[in-house]
Amino acid sequence: MTPHDSPRPALTLPHTRLLRRACLLAALLSGAAGAYTVKAGDTLYSLARTSGTTVAELLRLNGLTSTTLEVGQTLRLPGEGVTAPPPAPTSAPASLAGVTVTAPATLRMGDALVLRLSGPRAGEARVRFLSETGEDVRQPGEVLTPVQVGNEFLVLGRVVLGKTTPLMFEVQVGNERLQRSVPVSSLGQRIQRLNLPASISRKLEDPAREAEDAAVEQAYTRRTAPVWSKPFQEAVKIRAQSSAFGQPRTYVAGGPVGYHFGTDYPAPAGTMVTAVNDGTVILAGMYPVRGGLVVIDHGAGLTSLYFHQRRVTVQVGQKVTRGQKVGEVGSTGLSTGAHLHLEMRVRGEGTDPAGWMNRLWPK
Ligand SMILES: [Zn+2]
Repeated sequence: MTPHDSPRPALTLPHTRLLRRACLLAALLSGAAGAYTVKAGDTLYSLARTSGTTVAELLRLNGLTSTTLEVGQTLRLPGEGVTAPPPAPTSAPASLAGVTVTAPATLRMGDALVLRLSGPRAGEARVRFLSETGEDVRQPGEVLTPVQVGNEFLVLGRVVLGKTTPLMFEVQVGNERLQRSVPVSSLGQRIQRLNLPASISRKLEDPAREAEDAAVEQAYTRRTAPVWSKPFQEAVKIRAQSSAFGQPRTYVAGGPVGYHFGTDYPAPAGTMVTAVNDGTVILAGMYPVRGGLVVIDHGAGLTSLYFHQRRVTVQVGQKVTRGQKVGEVGSTGLSTGAHLHLEMRVRGEGTDPAGWMNRLWPK
């Protein structure tokens, strides 16, 4: 069997210091590095995403002139992250129907962002992200209603990992429409090769995993009004990070590449885990992969997730305030050492927690 069709590939290396602190959720994605055999359901786009590259790069690497793939076809995939594209031009404020729209000038993969709308009719605006294709995000092209914050109306957006095509959005006010795009650069991270012992990787095959994933997916569909009024703050007092947001990884030798949708903060077991901001607890309990899990809905489609805790000290339905204890650091679920894995998801997609900390809204 090749590494790609083996459900549990042979392990070649023992523990490393790196993997002891590893958080492994990205193993839920599939893809491959090196030579790859196309399977049913694969597309160039999905393969580009899971291998940290772009469709254009895959076309170039393989000398292809069409994006059509056939099952069984062999493709070359890049072995490491792509280089960041050159700096992009700024996008100036634009307006329609008396509404001024301001967007970030440039973005990186995994950024959360806000579009800022102002003017007398800003509250009537409806916004869609046209660059969302459906392969890349949950609920693509959702029609979004801006949230009023002071004199402005804000729409929260997110840039998915693995996709460097420009972020395109459309603002509609009455019958007028405005479309703009913002260039996106990669994080330039090299693929990290963890080689996990089967005792850890077998947790991915837990029969309760399906129910766990379904519960989390359900949490991502919530759309409530934003409830926070202060900047976001760290969930643990310890600043060290062991594994960066967005890191592409393989978990077993020759195995698939996945992205790290959160940031890992190593901390002694028992360290207090606190809410990054006000919200409502929508999941709280022990799960096979995420371990001791708390999910907080902050509103505006934003959820924060806290994984691998040894204890969870809040209950579903409970309102929490920024800085309130939600649990304790542990190493439960698919984890090889005590740490907090923190995710900040915008309508279900992982965004870089660093883009939220000490800010009321992302850039
Ligand atoms: Zn992690």
